[in-house]
Amino acid sequence: METSLQVAGCAWAAWIGFNLLMVALAATVLPVHQVHFDGFRARLPAPLPTQLAQAEIAAVVAHEHGHGHHLHIWTNLLLRCLLLTPGPQRRRRQEIEADDYAVAGGHGAHLASALRKLSNHPDDVSGAERLECM
Ligand SMILES: [Zn+2]
Repeated sequence: METSLQVAGCAWAAWIGFNLLMVALAATVLPVHQVHFDGFRARLPAPLPTQLAQAEIAAVVAHEHGHGHHLHIWTNLLLRCLLLTPGPQRRRRQEIEADDYAVAGGHGAHLASALRKLSNHPDDVSGAERLECM
């Protein structure tokens, strides 16, 4: 019994270590393929500046700072360490919170146009429509 608890504890510790390593790698050495907040700063892929106007880039960065402001990566990391998965509803709510953060900074219209240029995913299209109605 004690041995199985020790094995479970070691497996859980390894899982936590793996998740922390992934955050560290994402913040340091992994290439940036899409815009995201790595827990410390907004990261943008190199081709982005040619696709977007300066005001749209500022809006995207404001959105990513919204993720940082609301501690999304850290709450998701905590959930994963507790063996819970941040589900699609939580992720969608976090995107709306980040959008609202950008809107509060005056970036709503430019964020909507950036979303339309960068993605035709239904969630992004509805996000752009929501921003255009604000
Ligand atoms: Zn986002």
